[in-house]
Amino acid sequence: MSDCIFCKIARGEIPCRKVYEDDDVLAFHDIHPAAPVHFMLVPKLHIASLMQAEEAHAALLGKMLLLAPKLAKEQGLDNGFRTVINTGKGGGQEVFHLHIHVIGGGSLPPM
Ligand code: C5P
Repeated sequence: MSDCIFCKIARGEIPCRKVYEDDDVLAFHDIHPAAPVHFMLVPKLHIASLMQAEEAHAALLGKMLLLAPKLAKEQGLDNGFRTVINTGKGGGQEVFHLHIHVIGGGSLPPM
């Protein structure tokens, strides 16, 4: 999607503090971190939210989930981390391009 901010970041049109990139996935630090470490995993393919995810996206979603602990460890989160996927307006989603938040490095409030 041409006007989606995360598509623009994925295309390199808007800068980000990159954590990881491959052909399918980009990870970058959140501009408003909720904890000492807070980055997001974003598919390069535009999927608006988890509600729009389909069977055809299963491998991509699995890849992102498996990248989360690997990248978290590289960011120093040896002791664990929180993953969050806000989905839809009711789930507090603000950017309508699917993303997995990875948050940690401090004491997190219980959910
Ligand atoms: O899950 P949700 O849609 O609410 O989160 C979007 C996140 O994207 C926010 O945490 C916001 O700080 C982050 N963001 C960013 N860089 C941008 C725009 C938004 O890191 N250019």
